[in-house]
Amino acid sequence: MTATVGRDFRERSVADTSQLPTLYVWSGAGLSADSGIPTFRDVNGLWTQEDFDRVCNFETWRMYRDEVFDFYDRRLHMIERVKPNSAHKILAAWQGRWGPDRVTLITQNIDGLLEAEGAQAVTHVHGDLEHMFCVECDLRFPRQGSGFDRTQSCPRCGEFESVKPGTIFFNEPAPEYEAIMAMKTRMTQDDIFVAVGTSFTVVSPYHLLNKDRLSKHRRNVLIDPRPTYTEFFGLVVEESAGTGLGQIAARIERAMQEEPTKVDQIARVF
Ligand SMILES: [Zn+2]
Repeated sequence: MTATVGRDFRERSVADTSQLPTLYVWSGAGLSADSGIPTFRDVNGLWTQEDFDRVCNFETWRMYRDEVFDFYDRRLHMIERVKPNSAHKILAAWQGRWGPDRVTLITQNIDGLLEAEGAQAVTHVHGDLEHMFCVECDLRFPRQGSGFDRTQSCPRCGEFESVKPGTIFFNEPAPEYEAIMAMKTRMTQDDIFVAVGTSFTVVSPYHLLNKDRLSKHRRNVLIDPRPTYTEFFGLVVEESAGTGLGQIAARIERAMQEEPTKVDQIARVF
C-alpha cells in the first residue's frame, strides 16, 4: 500500500500543476529603489512636479518636445548605469522556476531590470524605454540608436513630429492596463497576490483586486517600507523590496507547491 501511495503522489506532483496557485506580482518604483533609481515619493529624487507637467504630460508634450526627449534621454542613460537588485533576482527566478503561466509579473516601472535578471515575460503598464510611440497611427515600435532620437520617424506613417518616447505620460491612454483586467478575471481565492514597492497613488487596490479579495485576504501580500492601503492585505511586510521578498520567499515557494486540499487544511495561511 505504501508503495502505491508513493507512486500516486509522485505521478500527480509531476504531471499536474493546474491546481496549484498562480502568483501575481504588481510592482512599483520601490522595486528598483535599491538599485538607485529614485522613487516618486523620494524627497531627494530627481523628479519634481514642475518636471512632470512639462516632460510627461500627454496633453502638452508636443509644445516641449525637445525637453521631453532630453529628459527621457537622461532617464535612459541613468537607468543604463544601474544594476538589478535582489528583489529583481528573486522575482525573475520565480518566473524561471514556475514559468510565465504561473508567475505573472506586472510592473509600473519603465526600467528593464527584471528582464536583465532573465524574466521572460514582464508587462510594463506604463511603457518602457526601449520603444517609441506614434500618436498619429497608434504604433509602438523599437527605439533605434543609443538614445531617444527626435528625428526617428514612424515606420508606418513616416511622420517624426508625432513620435514620442514609449513611456506612458500623464493623461495618456495605457493599453497595457488590459493586463490588470486579465489578472482580476483570472485570479482565484487560492492564488497569491504580492504588491511590492508601490504607494498605489496611480493604480489603487480597487483597480487591481476583485471584490472578493478586497479585504485582509490571507494571500494578499504587501511589501513596502511605508505601506498604504494595508486594510487590503493579510500580510504586510514593512521593508524595502529586496529585504521583504527575501523574508517571505520561503513561504511563497512553499505555497506555490501546495495542492489545493492542503491549502484548505491550513486555512490558506502561507
Ligand atoms: Zn505613425
